[in-house]
Amino acid sequence: MIDWNLATDECVAHLRALIRIPSVNPPGVADGAADQDSTGGETAAATYCADVLRANGIDAQVLEAAPGRGSCFARLPATVADPEPPLILLSHVDVVPVDVESWTRDPFGAELIDGVIWGRGAVDMKDMVAMELSVMLALQRTGGERRRDVIFAALADEEAGGVYGALHWVRERPDLFGDATGRLAAAALNEVGGYSMTVGDRRAYAIQVAEKGIIWTRMRATGTPSHGSMPSPDNAAIKLARAVSRLAEAPRPSRVIPVVRSFFTALGLAAVVERAERGDEEGSRAMLAELVPDPVLRRSLDAMLRDTVTPNVIRVGKKVNVVPGVGEAEIDVRTLPGTDQHAFLADLQAIVGDDARVESVHTMPPVEWAADAEIVQLMQQALLSADPDGLPLPMMITPGTDAKAMALLGIPTYGFAPLRLEADVPFLSLFHGNDERVPVSALRFGLPVLHEVVSRFVEG
Ligand SMILES: [Zn+2]
Repeated sequence: MIDWNLATDECVAHLRALIRIPSVNPPGVADGAADQDSTGGETAAATYCADVLRANGIDAQVLEAAPGRGSCFARLPATVADPEPPLILLSHVDVVPVDVESWTRDPFGAELIDGVIWGRGAVDMKDMVAMELSVMLALQRTGGERRRDVIFAALADEEAGGVYGALHWVRERPDLFGDATGRLAAAALNEVGGYSMTVGDRRAYAIQVAEKGIIWTRMRATGTPSHGSMPSPDNAAIKLARAVSRLAEAPRPSRVIPVVRSFFTALGLAAVVERAERGDEEGSRAMLAELVPDPVLRRSLDAMLRDTVTPNVIRVGKKVNVVPGVGEAEIDVRTLPGTDQHAFLADLQAIVGDDARVESVHTMPPVEWAADAEIVQLMQQALLSADPDGLPLPMMITPGTDAKAMALLGIPTYGFAPLRLEADVPFLSLFHGNDERVPVSALRFGLPVLHEVVSRFVEG
């Protein structure tokens, strides 16, 4: 009924058009926009989606949380008399800045070379915007009976916390995420999960049912400003450096949560979790190093086993001959489901001691949804029928997404952007990385899989 080759070509065209719109967040003229002014880029990308949907007879609107910060909302209404709660196809239209010098190709050129589409947003996440757009079009064109609304929501500002995107709309317009009777959506399909990863001889598809929590933390050290020629221990630079080192070097014992245990076990990494659960951290890490040669994948897996603390910004001192009176560090803290975020922050303060004061700037709790939900089973079935040798597995991701905002409404949000990737594609490095790109073959695999899940959940 649907010609998936044609549908994928159309999806690729939408993806390339979206990449050519530099919807860099934060918007404006920055290095990161490759000399392009990205002001209004989110609205332009959202408008592109709305125009495509409207041209195909689907009701769509662009709403702005602030000038230029546009999100696209569209809806295919249920066709039955007594519908079930909606399904949301969730995405974000913004992208992170680029370091143009480090790119091999134009980050906003959307070049298609040897079957690969290059450009910022190719995997995070204009690929999924285009796939969800294509699924909307396919549902509309085949015109089947729908037992729930399908809501398309391509939002602004995911990359900076969703203040002008998911958080805004969840707080101001929860009706956008529900149906005419006021019932909120039953589920949302969102970014990151769904891609294949090769571990040993296994090709796993990670179905994202959980995300770690976030505590963006600020650490402030104070001293007494004085002349640099008279050294003083009351120096904010020394105290801050000491505090940062202590935080970075403090042991972070592992804690294996059930979804991670099952995930590791299915990947053939049971020995890693067994050692971790015995408290043998060294043994666990050595085992992981032996079994997973790819260093980025290994770091990602290791971060699933523990709370993490990463100092990323240090600001202190203004002049070489002045002992600084104040210094600040910013620390990216990520917590497992089940970690008490308040107590964790208190622990960090205890580690740092008197050298600095630790406080949270922005906290988002972890999210975790049922790994055996109907829609997860549909994902597993659709993946298996498209790739019988694949291993679809529920998993937790270490970064955060708009799923955290959806959790405020209690809407289960699953990361499911299905892509079949060859073992040598450095997929995790492409998120926010240089030379971001996606193979067309991955979309050709993923689009029908995504459609299968949506149509079975919606059309029954
Ligand atoms: Zn993203």
